[in-house]
Amino acid sequence: MSKTRVLILGGGFGGLYAALEFEKRHDPDFEVTLISQENFFLFTPMLHEVAASDLDVTHIVNPIRRILRKHVRFFEGEVQSVNLAERHVVVAHGLNRHTHSMEYDHIVFGLGCVTNFYDISGLLERAVTMKSLGDAIVLRNRLIEHLEEAGTDCAEKDRAALLTFVVAGGGFAGVETTGSINDLLKDALPYYPNLKTEMLRVLLVHPGDFVLPELGEELGRYTGRKLAERGVEIRPNTKVKAVTSREIELTDGTRIDSFTLVWTAGTSSHPLIDQLDLPKEHNRLKVSAEMDIRGHPGVWALGDCAMIPDQQGGYQPPTAQHASREGKVLANNIAASVRGDALKPFRFKTVGLLASIGRRTGVARIFGINFSGFIAWWLWRTVYLLKLPRLEKKLRVALDWTLDLFFTKDFVQYLHERSPAIDDTSTAHASGTVNEAFCVCSELNQGEETDLPQDGPPPLATKT
Ligand SMILES: Cc1cc2nc3c(=O)[nH]c(=O)nc-3n(C[C@H](O)[C@H](O)[C@H](O)COP(=O)(O)OP(=O)(O)OC[C@H]3O[C@@H](n4cnc5c(N)ncnc54)[C@H](O)[C@@H]3O)c2cc1C
Repeated sequence: MSKTRVLILGGGFGGLYAALEFEKRHDPDFEVTLISQENFFLFTPMLHEVAASDLDVTHIVNPIRRILRKHVRFFEGEVQSVNLAERHVVVAHGLNRHTHSMEYDHIVFGLGCVTNFYDISGLLERAVTMKSLGDAIVLRNRLIEHLEEAGTDCAEKDRAALLTFVVAGGGFAGVETTGSINDLLKDALPYYPNLKTEMLRVLLVHPGDFVLPELGEELGRYTGRKLAERGVEIRPNTKVKAVTSREIELTDGTRIDSFTLVWTAGTSSHPLIDQLDLPKEHNRLKVSAEMDIRGHPGVWALGDCAMIPDQQGGYQPPTAQHASREGKVLANNIAASVRGDALKPFRFKTVGLLASIGRRTGVARIFGINFSGFIAWWLWRTVYLLKLPRLEKKLRVALDWTLDLFFTKDFVQYLHERSPAIDDTSTAHASGTVNEAFCVCSELNQGEETDLPQDGPPPLATKT
């Protein structure tokens, strides 16, 4: 008997956990392939800690091949199109982006969602997003770059704009990002003699009355107060109206002199999902509680790209804790459908919601009970550390957090430019091209005593 071919599209919380279930089942009747455009699984709940230099970049990602080791194949590539009638997908990969056609008997859509800029003028070109590992690195670099420039004498006329950072969206991603970048900037500031704390502006723009509406009014208002105490300006009932190269206009008419807008205020369906001729609800794939698409045998969806009924007339929320659990149920349902067994509906009630809001403070609602302050922050760290896949990464994160108790945050930039080199045979050594950067460093180092400062911030500058 030939094997049942299952293609899982997307290596996020939904897709990976579905693949993991097949890996555990070790069922010889299935040939399962996970396709994802990155070779790693990103643990999004800790993303803001990378942007804020609390965690090393690679510590919140896991190579998918280290998780799916034996029974599920992994293919790194970008799914370009899906032919539902002929049951195959086209995947592009490699240096020259050549394509492969891959056939399936069952297909699982776990492609997540994309950032939505809602056609707001200037946003697409200028906003920094907060969804991928690359986004967190870009944001971290941007913060440090702006401190470096603002700290120079020639930055007088741009200093205010360079030191003003606006975050749009008072949901989990926006609040956690605001709290953590505020901490990073404040920690780094003492190392810039020309800069003073009062020059720094961090704003959080939110369309509702209070932030973190998912956690209710009490915790939302507590979060707003805590952020305000640490100097964050909260702008409730306000949206971003337009963005130019150095100005952010809000719906209340305010114009903010700033080069940086972090956009966490909207998501939209994945463009590939838009192209599919399948039933949809709010542009997401409309599936049954068992996560199959009725009338389309062998087509399944989960996570942020699916609308899964919750049996109370609503839909499952788009969170990691749901997507990962959906993955397990969905994999078992595919196996059941092949064997002609009954499918199980996905049933899950949110256990708790937690957010870290900076300076060892958190907010959490667990089994309906509210927590705030240090205990909630400690719960946030404990819960997510336990959920982070693989012992190695858990230990690395725990070590980063422990070292954080003794040292200030690191603010080196991650540079990705190629090192300087020349391509000129008249000046080249016999052995080949000379690397200028190396020569300069070597000359500087000759006969020089190194006098590196020890850890601990210098005193704050009193004048610019
Ligand atoms: C900053 C941030 C913080 C968050 N914090 C929390 C939290 O604290 N708790 C919580 O429960 N939830 C949190 N979430 C939400 C959570 O991350 C999502 O609900 C969850 O990731 C959804 O899982 P998914 O599998 O549907 O999508 P994703 O995890 O987004 O995975 C989609 C996958 O598809 C891949 N992909 C996309 N397009 C293609 C293509 N064309 N070809 C191949 N591969 C493709 C992507 O690379 C990715 O691997 C957070 C989200 C963000 C952005």
